[in-house]
Amino acid sequence: MKLLFIGPPGAGKGTQAGRVADRLGIPHISTGDMFRHHVAAGTELGKQVKAIMEAGDYVPDSITVAMLKERIAEDDAAGGFILDGFPRTIAQVEALDELIGEDGLDKVVLFRVDNDVLVERMLARGRADDNEETIRNRLNVYEEQTAPLIDLYRERGVLVEVDGVGEIDEITERVLAALGAD
Ligand code: AMP
Repeated sequence: MKLLFIGPPGAGKGTQAGRVADRLGIPHISTGDMFRHHVAAGTELGKQVKAIMEAGDYVPDSITVAMLKERIAEDDAAGGFILDGFPRTIAQVEALDELIGEDGLDKVVLFRVDNDVLVERMLARGRADDNEETIRNRLNVYEEQTAPLIDLYRERGVLVEVDGVGEIDEITERVLAALGAD
């Protein structure tokens, strides 16, 4: 199964992607995690993206697409995967379409969480890019660049929506039910 988890920053999609990927026996592919590893390891790529991430902006599509393309070509991704945080722009959707086909995704799971809860969660999480100014920017960038993808996938008939507020276990069950995998 090829899945995409989408939603605003702080919606819990990374946590849920990890749990659902374990349950389904497919890899969880998070471009945010991949970038954070590069930053922590001090690679060339990490040096290129560190300031961008700290500001809450998006890494250029060319860099992101090249990294994702390599990752989904690995053996463990042959039987499916959960994409978490990619695609985030229309250009990334087009790149993914070229890689797996326009009908390549079986389902796109949208996590719905109100903005005040998102801000509260991000402040509690305390990641390097979770300070108030960056959070505001990330929410704006999401609205401008990523929210339009929701309608696109709805029109393709693959979007399912999950209420992202509640206990972590409960939300995992909601996702599995929405996927017909419960
Ligand atoms: P995330 O962990 O998904 O919230 O990603 C953390 C940060 O990594 C984002 O705020 C961006 O700076 C960068 N990033 C992750 N995925 C992408 C993507 N698909 N396109 C551009 N930037 C990304």
